[in-house]
Amino acid sequence: MKYADLAEIYKKLDVTTKRLEMIEILIELFELTPKEKMRSVIYLTSGKICADYIGLELGFADKMVIKAIAKAVGKPGNDVTKLFHKTGDLGEVAETLIGKTGQQQLGAFFGASGSDQERQLTVDEVWETLHKIAKTEGKGSSTKKTNYLLGVFSKASPLEAKYITRTVLTQLRLGVKDLTIIEALSRKYGEGKESRVIIEHAYNVTSDIGEIGERLAKEGIEAIKRIDIVVGRPIRMMSAQRMGTAEEILEKLGGKCALEFKYDGERVQAHVNKDEITLYSRNLNEITDMYPDVKGALKRSLKSKKAIVEGEITAWDPETEQLKPFQILMSRKRKYDIDKAMEKIPVKLFLFDILYKDGESLLKKSYPERRQILESLVNDDDVIVLSSREIVNTAEGFEGYFEKAIESGCEGIMAKDIRKETQYQAGNRGFLWIKHKFDYTSTFADSYDFVVVGGFYGKGRRKGTLGTLLMAAFNPEENRFETVCKLGSGFTDEDLANITEALMSIKLDKKPKDVVSNLNADVWVIPSLVYEVQGADLSASPVHTCALGEIKKDAGIAIRFPRFIRYREDKGPEIATTTNEIIDAYKRQRLLKKQDNT
Ligand code: AMP
Repeated sequence: MKYADLAEIYKKLDVTTKRLEMIEILIELFELTPKEKMRSVIYLTSGKICADYIGLELGFADKMVIKAIAKAVGKPGNDVTKLFHKTGDLGEVAETLIGKTGQQQLGAFFGASGSDQERQLTVDEVWETLHKIAKTEGKGSSTKKTNYLLGVFSKASPLEAKYITRTVLTQLRLGVKDLTIIEALSRKYGEGKESRVIIEHAYNVTSDIGEIGERLAKEGIEAIKRIDIVVGRPIRMMSAQRMGTAEEILEKLGGKCALEFKYDGERVQAHVNKDEITLYSRNLNEITDMYPDVKGALKRSLKSKKAIVEGEITAWDPETEQLKPFQILMSRKRKYDIDKAMEKIPVKLFLFDILYKDGESLLKKSYPERRQILESLVNDDDVIVLSSREIVNTAEGFEGYFEKAIESGCEGIMAKDIRKETQYQAGNRGFLWIKHKFDYTSTFADSYDFVVVGGFYGKGRRKGTLGTLLMAAFNPEENRFETVCKLGSGFTDEDLANITEALMSIKLDKKPKDVVSNLNADVWVIPSLVYEVQGADLSASPVHTCALGEIKKDAGIAIRFPRFIRYREDKGPEIATTTNEIIDAYKRQRLLKKQDNT
């Protein structure tokens, strides 16, 4: 398969924001793609080179790409840098310069002379080079990586150079999300509506869209039905909805539910295969090396040889026997000197679910059944404990447990449905789990995980920093980010300096197409950072685009008086607060206000 064909498809995807159009273009792409290339084509189109959990990264900095472009076209690096500063997009710079001047000689130098046919780049070639780049480490690696890139540039057309550049910088930004690929795959290879459910389930269990695509193309939907849990490969995690009062939650859950402490730490999915233990974060990144104490404790305390369990890792003070805040745990998260950090900040893992045990998937079992299995499997130890849990059927019982949780240093409680149909909904945010946090109760204040999409320069003391951020909720149906507020308070000066630095490293030359905004930010960024924000109130807003037209014509929903609470490094943009959550919260607030007035 020629890389030029892929680049032409990217050109089409680049100019559309419409989901249906994207799906049509993806189907066209699958028709072009040989079965054995499906995996690589799907990863490349998502701007990656492997499934996220593998953690193989390209590690290309702007200046390395500038060097490669400069060498490829025989110009001084400064000329390329100047052009970059003008356009703000190295992809465009590559497109402007590469494939035009001096390429013939360079091609000859790399052994790529000959007819146009011979000089044509294949998907395989690009794919293999990107893998070589990602695997190159250590001394002299940046020169080696630059030379690999130079090799592909020597054969690239302007359009190919543009997309290769964006890929190595992990800035492909075609707006193609995994759910859009799933939709396109089910239309191309499925047999009716239920195929989508089957494919989505397989995706949730494998967390690997490339593998699903390849198997569908090669073996069809029957093979996808057979896809099951593999210990060591992360399962996309189940999420919780939010609701207001005890009465509301109890009613939603059939009058009786289980309550668990909502520990304020880091969610972890632990895969245990005899002595081999792998820990995955909420974003499905491997975090095993950061928690050797948890790894050791799991070995000691689990009675099963092969299991997948979930829980929350929380910082713990052994002297006072108290939970410690999330920030303390985050200060332990580092790659080096982990032994020292481990001593300084001990942790506990509060287990609350089990997804697999000794050859059997437990996803389809009800939550009470899973909990029972979990309880029979765990020997409490210094580090591993079961989450605190109680069954309640009255609002008083609910409130009493909630107070106990807050007193114990938790951020609230999780109410869990205990009826029959309560299987583990991998990758889903449903009402089987409902989170109820401290700030939800007395006022309308609530906290949300929003994605930073842009920033505005500050004035006065904040001059030179991005003093106000443009925040957005995620709309998974439309695959886009919709603005909800401008965030300018709750930051320390240090926060602002760090945030400005972080945003400048993901700065874009124009608004990304998966962001819907009526405001024109001074700086647009790749929607990738998630911050927790507290808001006093929700209101209809002609300015913001979250849930536009849903509650009022020509108006969206905005968060009033937003305050920055903390960085959510454990969350990615696609598990941020959704548009639907904001609509629900808005409706709930209206209802409560009405009740207050009667
Ligand atoms: P969310 O991730 O936004 O759905 O919020 C729920 C989060 O609460 C989970 O991802 C966990 O990290 C955390 N959590 C803390 N305690 C519990 C518990 N007992 N059960 C489930 N989740 C919990």
